Amino acid sequence: MKWPFFEKYKIDPSPWPWELANWSDLRWFLAKSLALNHLVTYPILGYLQAYYLHTMYIEDSDLLPDHYTIASQILFCILIEDTYFYFAHRLLHWKPLYLMIHKIHHKFPHSISFLATSAHPLEVASCF
Ligand SMILES: [Zn+2]
Repeated sequence: MKWPFFEKYKIDPSPWPWELANWSDLRWFLAKSLALNHLVTYPILGYLQAYYLHTMYIEDSDLLPDHYTIASQILFCILIEDTYFYFAHRLLHWKPLYLMIHKIHHKFPHSISFLATSAHPLEVASCF
């Protein structure tokens, strides 16, 4: 299946995943990986995060920071998150961790949205 609009802007020269000979096996693997992470891993992590935030709940709005503080903290968090993600990803390419955890994420050589969350649950938890 080729759509002219997407072919026009495609930058990856490799074939689309559905054009590969083992697409049937890859599709099943992808479905299981996404189901595990979206139906089990993310809900567990979301619950733990909500529970943690609930214990930190602030009832008095006068204790909330001003807009400048919130904006600067958001920028700081973006910087920290991107730096953490970069080095965590590099660490996951260390051979023992790659073979044990990260190779699931790189099972597909393509850059399509569904593949971003196709990963080992430990990798999902490390990026949550
Ligand atoms: Zn990687």
